[in-house]
Amino acid sequence: MLRVVTVYPDLLGTYGDRGNGIVLQRRAALRGIESAHDEATSDERLPVADIYCIGGGEDGPQQLAVERLEQDGTLKERAADGAVVLAVCAGLQVLGRSFAVSDGTRAGGLGLFELDTVASAQPRAVGEVVVDGAAGYLPLTGFENHAGRTVRDEALAPLGRVISGVGNGDGTDGALVGRLVGTYLHGPVLARNPLLADWLLALALDAGELAPIDDDPSRGLHDERLGVARRAR
Ligand code: GLN
Repeated sequence: MLRVVTVYPDLLGTYGDRGNGIVLQRRAALRGIESAHDEATSDERLPVADIYCIGGGEDGPQQLAVERLEQDGTLKERAADGAVVLAVCAGLQVLGRSFAVSDGTRAGGLGLFELDTVASAQPRAVGEVVVDGAAGYLPLTGFENHAGRTVRDEALAPLGRVISGVGNGDGTDGALVGRLVGTYLHGPVLARNPLLADWLLALALDAGELAPIDDDPSRGLHDERLGVARRAR
């Protein structure tokens, strides 16, 4: 049984990222893989899972999410044990060492990613993003909506290279270490990028590659969004 948990949609549910957990469960089910998707609110103990999805939100709830996750301890334990974590925008920042808060202060993160998110004099990053690179799940499309810019330590790989949009702010998007995946892309990112969803499922199942899904409508959505973003550049 593959267990997928969306982490704290009550705090980090602003941008519809709970769809990522739904997509993972659906794509597992289409292949006959038994799975469950739970949405764990911040007033309960985080369930043990194989894949955790953390979404975007505002600075205040983001700080609260760090507090709760530190107290709870499950996410850090499971990440150390090899669970897959998909962290989007505020989720990416929460997994980092620290992030900027809109009142001018800084807040601590969980420290699973060797990165810091800083305030920027640039306008808020809002709009469509295309991320490319050599990995098999790329290119990715999605939308972003964030104030912070993310500075990775040199040794921490990004998820990919930004072709259009802002992402981390240095021409890259997100972070990737082991089974921890971070990105600025909403969409939900897994609804718009089925190859990324399948890559995460394969990681969690220790499967090299998953069988393709016949007649997959999300492939059409991916190509359509990519075409729109490319034409707009
Ligand atoms: N509060 C963070 C920022 O503005 C993250 C926003 C988000 O999750 N979309 O940088």
